[in-house]
Amino acid sequence: MKTLRLILGDQLNIRHSWFRESNDQVIYLMAELGQEATYVRHHIQKMVGFFSAMRTFARELSEQGHKVIYYNLDAPENEGSLTDLLEKVISAEQIQRFEYQMPDEYRLDEQLTKLCDVLQLATIVVDTEHFLTGRSELEDFFKGKKQHLMESFYRYMRKKHQVLMLSDKEPMGGKWNFDKQNRNKWKGQQAVPPLPDQSKDVTDIAAMIDRCEVSTIGTLDPSGFNWPTSRREALALLEYFCEWLLPCFGTYQDAMHTDQPFLFHSRLSFALNCKLISPKEVIDQVVEHWEASNGQIDLAQVEGFVRQILGWREYMRGMYWKFMPEFSKENFFDHQNPLPEFFWTAETKMNCLSHAIGQSLEHAYAHHIQRLMVTGNFALLAGIEPSELDKWYLGIYIDAIEWVEITNTRGMSQYADGGRIATKPYISSGSYIEKMSNYCGSCHYKVKEKVGEKACPFNSLYWNFLATHREKLQDNRRMGMMYSVLNKMDPKQLAAMQDRAQRIIANPDHF
Ligand code: FAD
Ligand code: SF4
Repeated sequence: MKTLRLILGDQLNIRHSWFRESNDQVIYLMAELGQEATYVRHHIQKMVGFFSAMRTFARELSEQGHKVIYYNLDAPENEGSLTDLLEKVISAEQIQRFEYQMPDEYRLDEQLTKLCDVLQLATIVVDTEHFLTGRSELEDFFKGKKQHLMESFYRYMRKKHQVLMLSDKEPMGGKWNFDKQNRNKWKGQQAVPPLPDQSKDVTDIAAMIDRCEVSTIGTLDPSGFNWPTSRREALALLEYFCEWLLPCFGTYQDAMHTDQPFLFHSRLSFALNCKLISPKEVIDQVVEHWEASNGQIDLAQVEGFVRQILGWREYMRGMYWKFMPEFSKENFFDHQNPLPEFFWTAETKMNCLSHAIGQSLEHAYAHHIQRLMVTGNFALLAGIEPSELDKWYLGIYIDAIEWVEITNTRGMSQYADGGRIATKPYISSGSYIEKMSNYCGSCHYKVKEKVGEKACPFNSLYWNFLATHREKLQDNRRMGMMYSVLNKMDPKQLAAMQDRAQRIIANPDHF
């Protein structure tokens, strides 16, 4: 039966069972779609990364003997809309059966389900064979429970997949979590290895995006694009991580530094999210490397890393499918403020924000703590409307795909879901940023000051946030300490901080 199989840009899993054998009756369709290039304003490196990886993947499939139809963004026959393109190809190729892999985004899932309802032919949906959990496994796991604690899900995953386990139920090292050992500031104690060189020329793709007049953000060096865009490169990056970065990963996981945008982070998220490599092979290789190190690498480093992939990544996906589409409308604090202009330019006197945003514009990357405790923290304290923020995070990072972006942004970072993902809002004054970075030393503002024109804006914003949302937060057991400090605060000092906070919120671009 003549079959059309759709491969989306984030479904580049060459080990999928679809590709085990080639078949003359099967056509694979891949397209650089206008709808995907414009549903949000993307970083230029993100667009180039996806298109480059898709083109490499299509080439590899063809070399393996599969029949592939590939449309570049500027191909005259490229309809721009997925639905229109599919209808056209199905008719032109006289397709009798349509197959696709389960999309990871709700938006595309809906679009394809609707299309299949009207197509006059057999349709089949298959798994992407990428994740360690099925779409509804998390929902089943938490059935009947009030809270959806990542920690309990993570332990379930460790046991189920027997990762870092001594026995069926007992974790290696006697603990599930080594986070307390993993919170050091980086002061140059350990040299950060240079980035592995995977640079390639992407001038043709960049020129095409330009020709198509797609609006993008950020910068690109077209002759030296240094993200992995093939499975071979993704595996090489994983190997590099194990060899050079894993030994310090956990220790400096939360650290931030003006000269080191990546520190000991793996930069694997893009390769993982477009499925060039699978979470299982990443975890297996990291654990094998640790075992082979014979104690040279500390368990805390490995557990810290495994937790991100086996725990957080699978958890976020499960939460996305459990709570979408309502999740995308959540706004627990009813925040309505516009995103400051400096999120697009990095032009602000607040050094932490200027650096975290500046490196995002330059590299399409910031690591977790920069996203959570610098940009996300500021946005939450300043009451930014979560949809505006979602669009920013979804556009600016090379690894941003809605299932993992929105859960991290609206959920973990903005607490807009009222605490489904995070047990308390991730907020801090300047002191946390000072503790974990070197940002404050060269800042225009004084991190120790709470009021006055030179006082760190995060300080007044933090206390103002707690005072403003007292009703919603004071009964949260994890916020008890913060509220007891607030309750003892001199009312005059609080009023002065709230006054400063209101001025910052009214005009964040002035600060
Ligand atoms: P490493 O620090 O080396 O971690 C290893 C891997 O663990 C990552 O590659 C990633 O696959 C996984 N991981 C780590 N933390 C998380 C997490 N919280 N949720 C899911 N997976 C995680 N991650 C994305 O992949 N796409 C996004 O769009 C995205 N948006 C985010 C938005 C906000 C506001 C925040 C706070 C976090 C976001 N994250 C997102 C999670 C995390 O910041 C990135 O996965 C990480 O920074 C990617 O860099 P890395 O590969 O060097 O990660
Ligand atoms: Fe950021 Fe405040 Fe530190 Fe400046 S002083 S870098 S604004 S935390």
